[in-house]
Amino acid sequence: MPRLRKRLLTEEWVLIAPERTGRPRRLGLVDAPAAEGDCPFCLSNPGHTPDPVAEFSSPDFPDSPWAIRALPNKFPALLPPGASLTSPDRSSPFEQPALGYHEVLVESPDHHVTWTELSEDHLTSVLRAWQCRVSDLQVRDEVASIQLFKNQGPRAGASLPHVHSQIAALPLIPARHLDEVRHFRAYREETGRCALCDLIADTESPRQVLAADHAAALTPFASRAPFETWIVPTSHDGSLADASLSTLRDTAALALEILRRWHALLGPVDYNLLLHTVPFAFIDEPYYHWHLEMLPRTGQIAGFELGSGMTINPVASETAAELLRESNHQRKASWISPS
Ligand SMILES: [Zn+2]
Ligand SMILES: [Zn+2]
Ligand SMILES: [Zn+2]
Repeated sequence: MPRLRKRLLTEEWVLIAPERTGRPRRLGLVDAPAAEGDCPFCLSNPGHTPDPVAEFSSPDFPDSPWAIRALPNKFPALLPPGASLTSPDRSSPFEQPALGYHEVLVESPDHHVTWTELSEDHLTSVLRAWQCRVSDLQVRDEVASIQLFKNQGPRAGASLPHVHSQIAALPLIPARHLDEVRHFRAYREETGRCALCDLIADTESPRQVLAADHAAALTPFASRAPFETWIVPTSHDGSLADASLSTLRDTAALALEILRRWHALLGPVDYNLLLHTVPFAFIDEPYYHWHLEMLPRTGQIAGFELGSGMTINPVASETAAELLRESNHQRKASWISPS
C-alpha cells in the first residue's frame, strides 16, 4: 500500500506508492501516453476511468455533457481514508499510511488543446473547478494540505497529452509548503503585513510584469528558473476556496497572457503550474495568501540541484520581467534556447 516515509536527516517526506508500478508504462505522478483513440480522458472513450467526482460546464462547450471533470486517479499515489490498512505501523514518526485523495482534473473534452488554445472564459471555469475541489477536499478530516499542480509536456512530467491538472490532498504538510507558511507568519510578526500583499503593492518594482484589477503577475526576486512567474491575487485570501469570481477571472487571464508571452520568447515550452493554498490547520490565521507559481521547464534538475536543494538560474528575474513586459507574442529571444 502507498505510504509516506520521512527522510532520516531532513524534514522531507517521500510518497512510496508501489501500486503505481501497475500503470501502463511509467513511474511517477504522471499517466501513460495515449493517442486520441484510446485516451482515457476523451469524451469518446467512456469507461476507461473511475466515475467522476464532479463535472463542470463552460461557455466554450455548450453542447458537451461536461467541459471539465474531476476523476479519482486510476493509479492513485494516495489511498482514500477508510481503505483497509495492514501496514505500516502508524506509531512510527518516520512512516505513515499515505491516506488522502489523488484526483485528475480533465480540463477540456478536446484532446488536442493546451491552455494557450483555450479561452479566458474556459480557463476561468477551470479555476472555478479547482476552487470547488479545494473547497470540498480542504475540510475533510484526513486532509492536512492540498497540492494542486499542472504538468504540461513531457519535460514537466506529463506524458498524457490530454490537457489536465492534478490534486493530491495529503495527510501532512510537506516541508516546502510548511516553510512557506512559516515565512508568511514571520513576515507578519515582523511587519504586521503580508509578504505577497507588499510585493504586489510595489508597482515600481522592476519585477512587476502585468497587473489586472484583481491580480498581478510578477517574477520573484530569487526566481528558481528563467521566467518563473507568480500570479498573486490582490485580495488577501489564504484559501483558493475564498477567491471571488473576478479574482479567478483575472488570475486565469494573467496566467494565459504569461503563457503566450513565454511562447513568444522561448518557443513551445513545457511548464509546471503550482497552486499554493493555505493548509487547513492555518486557515484561521491571518498571514497566508494563496497564489499560482508558474515555472517554465527550460533546464534539467541535475546533481547540483539534487545535492544542494538550490537551483542555478541563468536569467535574473528583472531581465525576465522586462522581456515579459515587452513581449508582443511574436518576437523570439535568440539568446536562450527554446528547449
Ligand atoms: Zn484525450
Ligand atoms: Zn496578502
Ligand atoms: Zn508558493
